[in-house]
Amino acid sequence: MTWQERYSGHLVNAFGLPRLELVRGSGSQVWDSEGRVYLDLLGGIAVNSLGHAHPAVVDAVHTQLTTLGHVSNFFTSEPQIQLAERLGALVGHPTKVFFSNSGTEANEAALKLTRLTGRTHVVATEGAFHGRTMGALSLTHKPAYREPFEPLPGEVTFVPYGDADALAAAVTDETAAVVLEPIQGEAGVLVPPAGYLAAARQATSDHGALLWLDEVQTGIGRTGAWFAHQLPWADGVVPDVVTLAKGLGGGMPIGATLALGSAAELFQPGNHGTTFGGNPVSCAAALAVLSTIESEGLLEHATTVGAQLRAGLEEHPQVVSTSGAGLLVGVDLGADISAAVTAAAQAAGFIVNNPTPSRLRLAPALTLTRQEAQDFVDAWPTILEAAGVSS
Ligand SMILES: *Cc1c(COP(=O)(O)O)cnc(C)c1O
Repeated sequence: MTWQERYSGHLVNAFGLPRLELVRGSGSQVWDSEGRVYLDLLGGIAVNSLGHAHPAVVDAVHTQLTTLGHVSNFFTSEPQIQLAERLGALVGHPTKVFFSNSGTEANEAALKLTRLTGRTHVVATEGAFHGRTMGALSLTHKPAYREPFEPLPGEVTFVPYGDADALAAAVTDETAAVVLEPIQGEAGVLVPPAGYLAAARQATSDHGALLWLDEVQTGIGRTGAWFAHQLPWADGVVPDVVTLAKGLGGGMPIGATLALGSAAELFQPGNHGTTFGGNPVSCAAALAVLSTIESEGLLEHATTVGAQLRAGLEEHPQVVSTSGAGLLVGVDLGADISAAVTAAAQAAGFIVNNPTPSRLRLAPALTLTRQEAQDFVDAWPTILEAAGVSS
C-alpha cells in the first residue's frame, strides 16, 4: 500500500492529503520517502527557526530528556524558570509567563486572562488567524473555519485590519481587549500601515482595555527583531499581552502567554492550568533557540537574507509586490495562481506555501543561507514558467 492509501485509511481528513511524506531534514533541506531533496522555505510553518536537526536543539533536548523529562506544574524546573526570565528580558518590561504547547493554547490562555478584567468584549480583525480551539476560533475571522462550529463563545467585534479609525471606534469602556497580529500571517503576510499599532495602543489605553499582540507567527526573530512589535515601524508600542508559539521551540511544541505590567497579576491559582505546558524538554529547546539566535546573529541575518529574497523575487514582472519583515515574506502574484506556483516550486525542489489564492508565503529557517536564498531566486523564473506564467 502507498503512504497515501495508508494515510487516508487511518487519519481523519482534516488536512486533505499531505503533499509529501518526509523522512529526514537537515538545516533547510528535507528529503521525501522517494529520496528527493527539497529546499524548505516554509520551515514547518515558521516553526523550525534553526532549521532541521540543529545541534543546539538536538543537544538541549537530549540532555534534558535524559536528565528530567516531565514533572507537571505541581513542580517546576530550572529550564522553565530560566525561559520565563529570558522571555521577560527580551520583551524588555516586567513580564510573567504562562506556558502551554501550541499557538491556539497560548491564545486560549490569553483570552481567559482578558475575562479576568471583568469585561467580555474583544475586538479582533478581519483576516485574523488566532487558532482552532473554540476560544481562539472565536477570534479567527475566516467564515469557512468558524461556521461549522458556531455558536462560538464570546462577544467579538471584527474590524478591517489596518484601519486605525475603525479599530478606535470599536473599542469602548466595555472592551476587555484588542487582539492583533502585528503582521497578519495566514492572511498572506499583510503589514499594517505605519502608526497602526500605536493607534491600537492609544485606543486600548483610553478605555482601560488590554492590547494583546498575537506574535505566534511573528515572534522569536522571525521578522528580524525578537518580536515584530519591536520593529522600528511599531513605534515602541508596549503591549499588555503577547502570545508566542511556532518558532519558540525550534520544532518542539511550546506556547507562551506573556502578560506585562498589571496584566501579569490577573491569573490567580485555579484560573488556568496545563499538564504538559512548561515541560523541561520544550523549555530547554526554547532556551537553545534563543541563545543560538543571539550567538549566531540571526536577527541581523534574517533581515539581510529576507531583503535579498524579496529583491530577487520582485524582479520578475509577474510579482506585484512582496511584503513582510525579515524571513516572513509574502509574495503578491497579482492573480489566482498561488496553488500552481506552489506545485511548480515543489516539482523544482522548493517547498513554499500558498495561504491565499494569489499570495505565497515563505517562512524558512532563520539560518537559511544567502546561497540557499539565491538558489530559489535563480529558479524563480523557471518555476513561474512551469506554473503557466509567461514573462
Ligand atoms: C499558527 C498561528 C496560531 C495557532 O497556532 P497553533 O500552534 O497552530 O495552534 C495562532 N496565531 C497565529 C498568528 C498563528 O500564526
